[in-house]
Amino acid sequence: MTTDNTTTPTHHPTTPAGGTTASTGPSPTAADPPPVGELDTAARRLAYVTVGVPTLGFAAAVVFSWNYGFTLVDGLLLLVMYAVTSLGVEGGFHRFFSHKSFTAGPGMTAFWGIAGSMAAQGPVLFWVATHRQHHAFTDRDGDPHSPRPLGGGRFPRLRGFWHGHVGWLFQVRRQNWAKRVPDLVRDRLVMRLNQYYFGWILAGLALPALLGWLATGSVRGAVGGLLWGGLARIFLLDHVTWGVNSIGHSIGNRPYRTRDNSRNVAPLAALSVGGSWHNNHHARPALAHNRHGLWQIDPTGAVIRALDALGLVSNARYPDRERPDKEGVD
Ligand SMILES: [Zn+2]
Ligand SMILES: [Zn+2]
Repeated sequence: MTTDNTTTPTHHPTTPAGGTTASTGPSPTAADPPPVGELDTAARRLAYVTVGVPTLGFAAAVVFSWNYGFTLVDGLLLLVMYAVTSLGVEGGFHRFFSHKSFTAGPGMTAFWGIAGSMAAQGPVLFWVATHRQHHAFTDRDGDPHSPRPLGGGRFPRLRGFWHGHVGWLFQVRRQNWAKRVPDLVRDRLVMRLNQYYFGWILAGLALPALLGWLATGSVRGAVGGLLWGGLARIFLLDHVTWGVNSIGHSIGNRPYRTRDNSRNVAPLAALSVGGSWHNNHHARPALAHNRHGLWQIDPTGAVIRALDALGLVSNARYPDRERPDKEGVD
């Protein structure tokens, strides 16, 4: 057993000098001015598709199962596709592409990029750029999705929560995204993965439909696979990922006194495959795992460790290796 699994973080302040912002990879620094450009109309149009289609798809899946039942194959396709794409988002888009918490060769890079793109939360460059902006301006002006109370009048807290959850997607500001992701723009493989974003989404819909058809030999099986393993799966993961942004910055424990309002949201740990230990993450953003206590489950961290042991990824940043004195962890 390694020492990092046995440590318990309690009230340990973090500072930039302690590695909080310096370890987020090539993200902009907090000293950068927040973006104040016009609304990005292309991003806004895409937001209607990103939010609308999976919502309609989830409703269609419920109506479909009301009439034709919910089979074991439907459930397995939902589970497997959810597992792959949630790891794609948290292990790939978040810990690998956004924070460089480990390195990987072209094959694994393609896997993380494709699995994350299949979640249909935006192309990898957009996802990483907005996330790095979130770390650079967390819960201040310039944070794209801080759930801070918004505006005057009635229900400012509710409005802020809605903005942090999904509303922000409709209010993305026009800016030079490449500035936030110079490392990814230089990488031809990543640019190719980004370019075929819609292709990966379609593959993520076609795959469960095909598997459903092969498993049952029926059109009903294919439609069940498309609806549950495809569209409903995207809808459910969307709200878990966005829930880390909204709930994870308003409700939950704060074992680390970070400068932001990030929280650990234990009930979301399994569904977010470890992403909801969000206060842990803001305290130590560059780590390959979010588990700072023995009881905290972090499936993504476990997968990265397993891939590391198999030699499929390398240079993973664990607390015990990155910080031999374990500062900030215990
Ligand atoms: Zn956050
Ligand atoms: Zn992050």
